[in-house]
Amino acid sequence: MALIVQKFGGTSVGTIERIEAVADKIVGFRERGDDIVVVVSAMSGETNRLIALAKDIMDYPTPREMDVLLSTGEQVTIALLSMALEKRGCGARSFTGAQVKILTCNTHMKARIREIDGTRIHAQLEQGNVVVVAGFQGTDDHGNITTLGRGGSDTTAVALAAALEADECQIYTDVKGVYTTDPRVVEDARLLTSITFEEMLELASLGAKVLQIRAVEFAGKYKVPLRVLSSFEEGPGTLISLEGDEKMEDPTIAGIAFERDEAKLTIAGVPDVPGVAYQVIGPISAAGIEVDVIVQNAAEDGTNDITFTVKRGECDRAKKILDDLKASLKAREVLVDRKVGKVSVVGVGMRSHAGIASKMFKALADESINIQIITTSEIKISVVIEEKYLELAVRALHSAFELGDPDYDKSSDS
Ligand code: ADP
Ligand code: ASP
Ligand code: MG
Repeated sequence: MALIVQKFGGTSVGTIERIEAVADKIVGFRERGDDIVVVVSAMSGETNRLIALAKDIMDYPTPREMDVLLSTGEQVTIALLSMALEKRGCGARSFTGAQVKILTCNTHMKARIREIDGTRIHAQLEQGNVVVVAGFQGTDDHGNITTLGRGGSDTTAVALAAALEADECQIYTDVKGVYTTDPRVVEDARLLTSITFEEMLELASLGAKVLQIRAVEFAGKYKVPLRVLSSFEEGPGTLISLEGDEKMEDPTIAGIAFERDEAKLTIAGVPDVPGVAYQVIGPISAAGIEVDVIVQNAAEDGTNDITFTVKRGECDRAKKILDDLKASLKAREVLVDRKVGKVSVVGVGMRSHAGIASKMFKALADESINIQIITTSEIKISVVIEEKYLELAVRALHSAFELGDPDYDKSSDS
């Protein structure tokens, strides 16, 4: 008998019919004799609806109150799924994050899980119940409700699997597994049977929202066997393989990730002296704004331009900080481009292959896509480009690196 943690995302529990279908699936697993802990997200669209309600009141609502609000979405789903299980004669108990003591730090809206007390869950499993836990939420030391950042139910599931020493953590979603890129953008994207943990970490951090990055980090740290599968179709999905069980052959490129909704800011003509980068980036990060790519050009006339990217929603706040710094740093100007995106090619095989960068740049040049910023690491190359070319760039790179599924049938819509 195995202990399995299964997570069902928003689309998978998006309607009553789908919740009933998830309940049928879980009953099937129970009949095989496994112990099941289920983690659910809010019904699809619900978290966005709640955010919009708050924004109708104020632009920057208090993070503490946002967490009280956003955590309600998952509470609805745990109750409905437990009812659907009970209706099928399957014992089930729902729990909020606080009830099963998912303890987090106190950073509202992007809290990190510190500790989980599995006692209550184990007791319920021993009584033969399916345990249904609300994803995406916990409490801090003072009992304040916290949430884990968008997509955080993945992390709840993996953290629970680690704490309970589960045999596997299964992330059920609305696609068949992890693909070479988002199958909604590239129709012949190929389903991967497995992907290395390192590559998955990189894809998740570069925008592939199929798994939240913290979930991948947890899986690596606690060696949780992690699989992504479809809620709607049978199939083995994608295994995130941990060190030691590498694939037989590593393709050079595992996949392509992209991030929309970025903005680029430049403070131009700042003095080329030690400490300037800190004076610019320091106040930005002190304001809790996450900075992504940072570049500083070579100085010619004793001055520098410092350019960085942030999420578009943070652009106005970042610009205000730069505008305030302009006088004290004697900067020439502050420039903003609100419509950029980032495309990245990722693969552990890149380490041993020369020419990946030139192949990438040629593919973009062939489509007349201008590259604004380039950043690289051992296993990825990212470029910042105009947002309107983002999908074109993803398709061009996917085909340049021959990542397409050779068996893809254009006439079928599966
Ligand atoms: P859930 O609600 O189940 O958590 P998400 O919407 O958060 O689902 O994540 C699944 C989505 O991730 C897919 O529908 C797909 O559009 C997107 N996605 C992006 N990159 C990839 C990728 N490389 N492989 C699979 N899905 C991807
Ligand atoms: N409901 C949350 C969100 O939409 C958490 C999740 O779905 O994982 O981000
Ligand atoms: Mg998700």
